Amino acid sequence: MSAIDTLTTPLGGPTLAQERRLVTSIPGPRSQQLLERKAAAVAAGVGHTAPIEAVAAGGGVIVDADGNSLIDLGSGIAVTTLGNAHPKIVEAVQAQVAQFTHTCFMVSPYESYVAVAEALNRITPGDHVKKSALFNSGAEAVENAIKIARKFTKKQAVVAFDHGYHGRTNLTMGLTAKAMPYKSGFGPFASEIYRAPMSYPYRDGLTGAEAAKKAISIIEKQVGADNLAAVIIEPIQGEGGFIVPADGFLPAIVDWCRANNVVFIADEIQTGFARTGAMFASELFGIVPDLITAAKGIAGGLPLAAVTGRAEMMDASHAGGLGGTYGGNPIACAAALAAIDAFENDGLLERAREIEAILKDRLTALQAVDGRVGDVRGYGAMVAAEFVDAETGEPDAALTVAVAKACIAEGVIVLTCGTYGNVIRFLPPLAIPDELLHEGLDVVAAALAAA
Ligand SMILES: *Cc1c(COP(=O)(O)O)cnc(C)c1O
Repeated sequence: MSAIDTLTTPLGGPTLAQERRLVTSIPGPRSQQLLERKAAAVAAGVGHTAPIEAVAAGGGVIVDADGNSLIDLGSGIAVTTLGNAHPKIVEAVQAQVAQFTHTCFMVSPYESYVAVAEALNRITPGDHVKKSALFNSGAEAVENAIKIARKFTKKQAVVAFDHGYHGRTNLTMGLTAKAMPYKSGFGPFASEIYRAPMSYPYRDGLTGAEAAKKAISIIEKQVGADNLAAVIIEPIQGEGGFIVPADGFLPAIVDWCRANNVVFIADEIQTGFARTGAMFASELFGIVPDLITAAKGIAGGLPLAAVTGRAEMMDASHAGGLGGTYGGNPIACAAALAAIDAFENDGLLERAREIEAILKDRLTALQAVDGRVGDVRGYGAMVAAEFVDAETGEPDAALTVAVAKACIAEGVIVLTCGTYGNVIRFLPPLAIPDELLHEGLDVVAAALAAA
């Protein structure tokens, strides 16, 4: 059986026909009703991309309350990497939920939490001794990685990068680069956060070594290694626009951190767990982070996050300094163990690379005939197209929004991103059949031609 067969084997949930099917306009009447209730009951700040009421999902589709079947090229923001309601996840969750739902690991420990920690220590890059701690969300993992780095180094400052995204809590808003929509009006932000320039080959024209030299010079002059606890960076930036740093950039930053007693944190919340065709994107750049934050793809959609890293750093905190009521919930841990089993044993790294080949073939073919596709970049099932004015090369956010909206109206869910709002990111579930991925990209091409 190929990876794709394993992924779409029906067992309960994902028996859905793998097809794009529009029986109403989007939104249909049932979805419209829910959106009206949402507008009345849910805080306006909680937005949505696709105006539908989701009722089922599996493989590469999401079905709405009106019976439309939409192609899913977003995986709920890189979460349902295995495909929704993957049989292994469903089975593990059902067994655990009938056994016990919560004890609080800090009150009465249980085996699955420890097993998740052991698995993370094993599958993250580097063969040094590692330990892990589990949390509920990506932002919470980032907060804890910063706590751990400060406690270990006895220093306070943190450097994050241009275009970086690290979450929506107070500390992580401070680390996040983009004001609108993530930070605007929500300050004041935590102190001792500094920003360095990211390597962005399409726009800065610098080699990795040149970009690293520029970033390190700013860090040394504006912060000083003696004050700096940690550098945090996404090996491939997610919300910032799937920015892939130039070769040599990340290794140079890691080397500088190591020489200066600064903790190097790789935020792999979006890039982790086979998404990029490697288990973690750090491997693509040959770097070994001191600490890694993980979430999104870790547990098939159940809320779980982790910090994994050097044992001496992870052990720097006094007992009771790390944790939380729900962190490492047993149902989420059962799901994570099933997911990690699938990531390791079901050929998913290869599957992500197959998807990369399809995405890059199709998108570079578009780029060759349409000057508005300025750049195509990424790895695995994490590939983006950056849209620009064909004459000036300036970011074209209006075109990007128009294409994304047209795709959704035609039954293909795509997500945008980028500091300039001019990037469409493709994050399909690895369970998507090739034909459906091609059909989704046909729709994107037609939407671009019409825009
Ligand atoms: C999504 C994301 C976060 C925040 O995760 P939440 O679970 O939404 O808190 C942090 N860092 C990166 C790189 C992300 O993609």
